[in-house]
Amino acid sequence: MSDVTIVGSGASAVHFAQTALERGLSVTMVDVGRPRPAPVRPDDSFAELKRTLDDPWRYFLGARFEGVLFPGGKGEYYGFPPHKEYIFESIEPYSVESRGFEPLASFARGGLAEAWTGGSFPFNDAELEDFPFGYDDIGPFYDLVAQRIGIVGANDDLARFMPVHRNLDAPLDLDRHSTALLERYGRVRERMNADGAFFGRSRAAVLREDRDGRKGCDYLGRCLWTCPRESLYTPAMTLERLIAKPNFRYLDQRFVTHFRFDGDRRVRAIATLDLTTNKVEELDVERLVLAAGTLPTSKIFLDSIHRANGERPRLTGLMDNRQTLVPFANLKLLGAKWDPDTYQYHQLAFGLAGRTPKEYVHALVTTLKSALIHPIALSAPLDLATSLWITKNVHGALGLVNVNLHDTRRAESYVELSGDVERTKLVARYEPAPTELADRKRALSRIKRALWQLGCFVPPGMAHVRPMGASVHYSGTLPMSKTRAPLTVDRDCRSHDFENLWLADGATFPFLPAKNLTFTLMANASRIASRIA
Ligand SMILES: Cc1cc2nc3c(=O)[nH]c(=O)nc-3n(C[C@H](O)[C@H](O)[C@H](O)COP(=O)(O)OP(=O)(O)OC[C@H]3O[C@@H](n4cnc5c(N)ncnc54)[C@H](O)[C@@H]3O)c2cc1C
Ligand code: SF4
Repeated sequence: MSDVTIVGSGASAVHFAQTALERGLSVTMVDVGRPRPAPVRPDDSFAELKRTLDDPWRYFLGARFEGVLFPGGKGEYYGFPPHKEYIFESIEPYSVESRGFEPLASFARGGLAEAWTGGSFPFNDAELEDFPFGYDDIGPFYDLVAQRIGIVGANDDLARFMPVHRNLDAPLDLDRHSTALLERYGRVRERMNADGAFFGRSRAAVLREDRDGRKGCDYLGRCLWTCPRESLYTPAMTLERLIAKPNFRYLDQRFVTHFRFDGDRRVRAIATLDLTTNKVEELDVERLVLAAGTLPTSKIFLDSIHRANGERPRLTGLMDNRQTLVPFANLKLLGAKWDPDTYQYHQLAFGLAGRTPKEYVHALVTTLKSALIHPIALSAPLDLATSLWITKNVHGALGLVNVNLHDTRRAESYVELSGDVERTKLVARYEPAPTELADRKRALSRIKRALWQLGCFVPPGMAHVRPMGASVHYSGTLPMSKTRAPLTVDRDCRSHDFENLWLADGATFPFLPAKNLTFTLMANASRIASRIA
């Protein structure tokens, strides 16, 4: 039996595992772990691929055009390339029903962050106020994770919101549009700052230089289609390196249904469904770490209690960041050329000071480059031909801001079980905070004002409020608590209900700042692995 058994191979799980191994503990990782298809022509740029692939339509758009966002869709401004579908494919034994919430889960090797855009932002002391530790405690683990995965960024005006941790590498080269925005900010900075709006380089988990077998970004422009140089970090890269280590065992194709515990509430074993044979097996555990993502982790936890004694507790406090997508056009760049062979994701960000530091508004700016039939054109209140003509001629001037609001734990937002014991469903309910609508409107008007000061125009009626659940920053269902209470965990994310159970994903967050949480998931998982007794 290994010292530690971890469920999942996502961002949280792999960093927990790496730190546990570095401490000399043996680790078994149990995972569904759908594999990713091999990279295609790794040295070709986006433009070259269109020429060199035998069937570029299939690669970019899919055999059934499933990668295209058509008019009349749900108003989303991102489509996923067909070969990334495996990341979001659900599996038969996992069932969720929801209201007010569109839940996603991943059963891929590496989890949801196989599709992420790499935004990596440390929480500051104000944002950690409800956590049972402060920046001094987690800071060394931000430094450690940054060293492991490579994070680029700058010590600029956004540092007032985001601590500058160690191992922050110099940012990537900017594309033409991003350069123009940053130059303009230099001229209007004082006016914007007086309004509480700050602008600067985003932070992202991407390599500028070659490191640990990964190659530095060569500006191939294929980020959305999976970086073939491994410059953009994903957890599957860490997993691959862990698998080569002697004290690590990876059991994939196994769906964990529940854990079994004894009368002293000590976890004895996990039950797994082997997806290749459909057989249920038990695996004895010494210490169990759930890192299956907030919703699957909550389901395993609830199913384990339900199977043991028939109870169905409700886990309150489900959180996610409300996101609004705001397309804009830079008036100075209308008609300008655009270069598809550039880094595709956000390189810039706005930080808006909140009424209190916890109400900080976080907004990532992506200038638009290689996107195909651009959904913005299709959403414009014009006929298709005019929209496409406009897109072609203003492509170099277009951009998108993704505005994120913080969230708090509330009793009205929760998960619980329904259904028969052998086939339970996770029920997820989400009620927005009473202030959300007003907060969202205020943030939107501040972003529009800031964009205007940068010389950019937001076409009326095109801001899109994403459904709750779309940001996939789920958290809060089994929170860290300074006091011992049922359905909570302690400072080290050790369960207050089961003595040898740890939770290493977003389920444990007592507050959700506006900043994307994955860097903190990885740092916190490493922190608790360094303290596991
Ligand atoms: C398009 C997109 C863009 C994003 N961009 C960003 C970003 O820029 N910055 C950011 O901070 N975050 C971003 N995110 C969010 C980020 O991906 C998640 O926060 C992160 O992946 C969560 O990691 P996790 O390890 O906690 O869980 P997951 O990634 O959900 O991993 C769960 C793992 O558990 C396994 N698993 C689940 N259930 C079971 C079970 N019952 N039995 C066995 N194995 C199981 C799965 O196979 C998987 O390996 C983005 C997400 C998406 C979808
Ligand atoms: S531009 Fe994107 S796809 Fe190309 S090397 Fe850089 S991170 Fe990878």
